[in-house]
Amino acid sequence: MATYVVSGSASGIGASTRSRLEAAGHVVVGIDLHDAEVVADLSTVEGRAHAVSASLDLCHGSLDGLVTAAGVGPPVSGALVAGVDYFGSHCLLEGLRPALAAAPHAHVVQIGSNSTTITPDIPEDLIEAFLDGDERRAIELVTEVPEPFDSIIAYGGAKLAITRWCRRAAVSQDWIGSGINLNVIAPGAVLTPLLEGGRDHEVVGPLMESLPIPTGGPTNPDLIAEWIVFMLSPAARFACGSVVFVDGGSDALIRPDAWPDGFQVRG
Ligand code: NAD
Repeated sequence: MATYVVSGSASGIGASTRSRLEAAGHVVVGIDLHDAEVVADLSTVEGRAHAVSASLDLCHGSLDGLVTAAGVGPPVSGALVAGVDYFGSHCLLEGLRPALAAAPHAHVVQIGSNSTTITPDIPEDLIEAFLDGDERRAIELVTEVPEPFDSIIAYGGAKLAITRWCRRAAVSQDWIGSGINLNVIAPGAVLTPLLEGGRDHEVVGPLMESLPIPTGGPTNPDLIAEWIVFMLSPAARFACGSVVFVDGGSDALIRPDAWPDGFQVRG
């Protein structure tokens, strides 16, 4: 029996992951705005601090795994997206790391998105603001973008930055050197309230509908949860800093040759 923290555990991908882990006999400490062991608002500094300290209390300082699934998406304000999708995840990754290191072998799955690679023109200075931990600057930059594109840029930017943060951290002494496998899953369109919120919007909806999905359409949260549970398992132990795209082929269709990119040695 293992203990996991799952943020965003009350709905969608997080809820489906939670029910699979519990069905397998594990203990899940959920973090969400409602219906969770830890009720916390990950968009605020106070909420993040509470989420970390209450989770550490409930897992008694040792944690076998973490899934950071809490998120919001277009068309909610870009500032809120930045606060939850980057800083809300980052605080859990940093704050719960000591408890993950205290377990014999822990696995972390950050929920990224294929928005990282298919959102055009994400400003590099926004990514830098996220990675510098400069929330004020990140919000300033996204609010310069007119609505509702502020939300789209914030979403792609936050997911790209947290993915980059995870790849840098994953290979470090603090993470794999401390026995913690850190990986990212990058889903495409998944039928959850987050996606429905976008599809109902007059501008964001048609943009989402125009996304080609070679497998035929959006998937369901249970299918993504199956991947997450696998990525939490010992079978995933050789995965370290991996970004696993499970997106029905959208990224491969739009950018077939962009990734993997060759290693260029500059003279
Ligand atoms: P969802 O709306 O079903 O679940 C998101 C959960 O996050 C909700 O329970 C919500 O209450 C919680 N949450 C939102 N704001 C919060 C806050 N401030 N503090 C604490 N909890 C908060 O959506 P989902 O699609 O299951 O999203 C899960 C993750 O998957 C998100 O990170 C999302 O960005 C990502 N994702 C979703 C899709 C998709 O198409 N649905 C695609 C790629 C990635």
